[in-house]
Amino acid sequence: MKLDQFPPEMQPYVVPAPGGTYVYECFECGREFGIEELLYTCPHCSSVLMIKDRDWERLKGISGPLWQKIFDYRSMLTVPALRGIYRFHELIGSIMPLESIVYLGEGHTPVVAANERLSQWVGIPFHFKNDGQNPSASFKDRGMASAFSYLNDLIQNRGISNVLAICASTGDTSAAAALYASYLVEGVKSAVLLPQGKVTPQQLGQPLGSGAKVIEIPGVFDDCMKIVEYLSEHFSVALMNSKNAWRILGQESYSYEIAQAFDYEVGNLTVVVPIGNAGNITAILQGFLKLFDLGIIPALPSILGVQSEHANPVYLYYLEKRPDKRRFQPVTVRPSVAQAAMIGNPVSMPRVMRLVEQYRRLAGDEAVQVVEVKEQEIMDAMLMANRNGHISCTQGGECLAALRKAVEEKKISRDRTAVLDATAHALKFAMFQDKYFTNSFEPEFEVIPRDDLRNAPLLVAPPAGMPSPQGGKVLAPDAMRAFVEYTAGSVAELLGLKGR
Ligand SMILES: *Cc1c(COP(=O)(O)O)cnc(C)c1O
Ligand SMILES: [Zn+2]
Repeated sequence: MKLDQFPPEMQPYVVPAPGGTYVYECFECGREFGIEELLYTCPHCSSVLMIKDRDWERLKGISGPLWQKIFDYRSMLTVPALRGIYRFHELIGSIMPLESIVYLGEGHTPVVAANERLSQWVGIPFHFKNDGQNPSASFKDRGMASAFSYLNDLIQNRGISNVLAICASTGDTSAAAALYASYLVEGVKSAVLLPQGKVTPQQLGQPLGSGAKVIEIPGVFDDCMKIVEYLSEHFSVALMNSKNAWRILGQESYSYEIAQAFDYEVGNLTVVVPIGNAGNITAILQGFLKLFDLGIIPALPSILGVQSEHANPVYLYYLEKRPDKRRFQPVTVRPSVAQAAMIGNPVSMPRVMRLVEQYRRLAGDEAVQVVEVKEQEIMDAMLMANRNGHISCTQGGECLAALRKAVEEKKISRDRTAVLDATAHALKFAMFQDKYFTNSFEPEFEVIPRDDLRNAPLLVAPPAGMPSPQGGKVLAPDAMRAFVEYTAGSVAELLGLKGR
């Protein structure tokens, strides 16, 4: 819709002008630092940083209901820069001129209600929000759109050039970083470090296809992260892991979209999210806190974090109920089908601690919970979901298993509705479905396929001596008719078809 077609009272608000004053804020020592330079950790105390708008209070000059109208009307604009996560420009990148924004189709992923059968299996109604329907097929695109838009701003307006964007990855970060870097042909190259053999073939193919330098390292993600951190401390590179606070900022859009999809009434929702490096849960907590602070949502939803018991440091941390007795301990991970979250020492843990405390203060202790699930439960739940019309990855399956368990254990009351983060597309993790169907999981995974959830293709081949078109052979009309009749008969028998 064209700007002059909006109601006159909305026109001044629909297209945002750059505003605000952004700084990096250290949660640990409270110091603030300018954003002119790319900074990942606090120069004073080495803790992770968040981005803060020093002029945040100005946004309270607009009422919550008016903000709702602004975002709702803005969704009708056709300006590409505002079609993605920057619909919420004032909340996640207000300093950015629209010309710097990189939009590759990220955000506004569908919220799909579970059918009656699946809801009953879980115990409450719920929805998947399909973040696998982002351009590189995972939620990581939200954060990359933000981080690369800012890089683009630095290149266009602040004289930075020859950027090498680098990241360690469990697969999806590198796919997203390589995609956005490849779009910004001028001045940006990308390199990704992957744990050898610990990403799926699809995830390995993605950065290769985008033209990134792909470097495999023997070890797991946590090892790659150490190398990338060393590189970012000693060389001139742009770190694209979620240590980069711009990533967190962009990923907050997930919360904003949920709020908008539920007409800003989210007090009765439970948002379920898998935790790996803990960037996603950080962003989701922060996103809802911002909305609440501006009066855009009248109540906070509850948050249910989930980890596999093979990579569960955050779960173990919150197991201790008394905050003064909690001590964070990294764990050594074991193989997990939720491979994208297979992280033993989450970089964002200091952010999570701080935000969970803040969130619980406002919404009660039950408002943030963390549960763990078994590998078997993750696989069974993912397959159940996808047999009921969804396209969930293993991490989405992890959310479903967690929700079911939390409802069963009465950690979530039956009058709530849930939104599950299907963080990537099922196809990226097809390898685990295949291992399940062919009963070929390595013993460390501890997954035994359930017969009722297995599936396999059935070959219907003609008997020996009957010609078939195999290998592109062209059959004579009679032979072809014989082949079709025989094969159709076999298929009909297999499917139990009745004649007509
Ligand atoms: C990265 C990733 C996660 C984990 O998110 P964190 O922000 O690292 O906690 C979960 N699922 C998928 C598909 C991912 O790519
Ligand atoms: Zn500090």
